[in-house]
This record gives sequence, structure tokens and C-alpha cells, in this order.
Amino acid sequence: MEKIASFTINHLIMKRGIFVSRKDTTTSGDVITTFDIRMTEPNREPAVDGAALHTIEHLAATFLRNHKEWKDRIIYWGPMGCRTGNYLLVNGDYTSSDIAGLMRETFAFIASFEGEIPGATARDCGNYTYNDLDLARKEAKRYLDEVLNNLKEENLNYPQ
Ligand SMILES: [Zn+2]
Repeated sequence: MEKIASFTINHLIMKRGIFVSRKDTTTSGDVITTFDIRMTEPNREPAVDGAALHTIEHLAATFLRNHKEWKDRIIYWGPMGCRTGNYLLVNGDYTSSDIAGLMRETFAFIASFEGEIPGATARDCGNYTYNDLDLARKEAKRYLDEVLNNLKEENLNYPQ
């Protein structure tokens, strides 16, 4: 089988940031932009804790699907299997800079979230006790402070 495009990006020199992974055109002609929301440097920093990433999934998905401006364009948010970040699929043709403000809002929401994690019940989730809100908040704050509030070219575009 052919190596798929996302496995051809050089992970050895990849930074944290917001990156366009791919753009797909549906049979109806709509463009879907897939973003990598990369929270840790691959293989050089510890991956995000699984339970914390699960909590980030619940909080980010809830926040984005309630966002006044963006909710109708959000197709999907979910964790990467390698636990270095998340995937965000948006209906439309966008650049990383276009969603920088949205990501700052999302991670500020997670970093300061208090109370019950949305959807973290046996009825609503497949593994609802697998959550860590404290660590999710810490990881969100670190990504916000160190990356999202200080975005450079290397944090917005993958090396060519
Ligand atoms: Zn869940």
C-alpha cells in the first residue's frame, strides 16, 4: 500500500502549533480543511497524557460546537492516536492563521474550566472515568502560553 500524505511530513523537525494537514474537496464541491492541533513536539517531548487528552476532547468539542461564529463549520475534533495533539476538521478553505483566534479561545476555555466535564457520564461516553481535568487544564495552559500566544511561522506551517 502507498504511504499516505500525512506520514510523509518530517516529524523529526516538527514544532508545536496549528498546521494544515490536508484539504479535501467533497463530491458536492465543498472544501474540508483538516488541521493538526499539535500540542507536543513529536518524539522529543512526552506525549499528552491519555486521560487529559480525553478531557481536552470533551471540552474542545463542546466549546467548538457551541461557538457562535464557527459552530456550523465544525465537522470534527478528536485526539491523535500518538497523543501529540488533536485533529480539527472544518468545512471551508482555511489557513492556520484563520483559526488561531478560535484555538486561543478554545484552549483558554479548557485552561480555566471548572465543574463537571461535559459528556463524562456512563450514558454519554465509552470510558467516562478515563479523564483528568487538572492535567488537561495544565496542558491547555502550557500550549496557550508557550505556543498559541506566541505563534511564529514555524508554528503555522509544516517545513517543506
Ligand atoms: Zn469520552
